[in-house]
Amino acid sequence: MPEISHHLQQVYHEILLYEQEFGRKPGVVKLVAVSKAQPWSRLFEVRKCGQTLFGESYLQEALEKIDRLRDMGIEWHFIGPVQSNKTRLIAENFDWVHSIDRIKVAQRLSLQRPDNLPPLQVLIQVNTSNETSKSGCSFSAIPELAKQIKSLPGLQLRGLMSIPASSNEFSEQRKPFRKLKATLRELNRSGYELDTLSMGMSRDIRAAIAEGATMVRVGTAIFGGRASKP
Ligand SMILES: *Cc1c(COP(=O)(O)O)cnc(C)c1O
Repeated sequence: MPEISHHLQQVYHEILLYEQEFGRKPGVVKLVAVSKAQPWSRLFEVRKCGQTLFGESYLQEALEKIDRLRDMGIEWHFIGPVQSNKTRLIAENFDWVHSIDRIKVAQRLSLQRPDNLPPLQVLIQVNTSNETSKSGCSFSAIPELAKQIKSLPGLQLRGLMSIPASSNEFSEQRKPFRKLKATLRELNRSGYELDTLSMGMSRDIRAAIAEGATMVRVGTAIFGGRASKP
């Protein structure tokens, strides 16, 4: 499917362009290809184009793809809400989890992380828009959650993630990203060494890169549209 490889190249190009535009070091922004609701064959195409980081939101369909695409050097990122009865399979099959928003889930993931694997790389998901319906912890809950995660041997805390309320306006898009970056800086001032800001999706990667994203999570711009939740 040459169309996919074209879209992927386009996204790489945009990332590079925005890194330049906002004075970021070239190559600091990593692309997580969000492949939820896409069949494994399309991930295979994208992997063959050189893309190695893939993000999935729904555990069941993800497991099937992970199984199919084993030994292809893919780094798997879980980016969806984590239900506590699903933590074992996530701990066993993924490299990263972007969506930790409560201690119970963190404790379970740590406990269930197999000993023969490196610690699970995790991000705290922050609700930057104060919408009660969305997942993510509040800003005020971050310090305690970070402290607890730091004490868990099966996890390595790498930074913060957010999915802000959508806006079409660039300056509005930047605000929650800026706040997330300031929060990361504050944590680092208090002794953490966090290096990851997972922020920006197809429609707002420019704003996210402007504000310091180190990972952008892009689905639609690579794969095109997807059917709603399976
Ligand atoms: C679906 C999803 C994305 C990708 O969104 P697009 O608009 O398709 O780029 C990014 N992050 C999360 C958490 C998602 O669920």
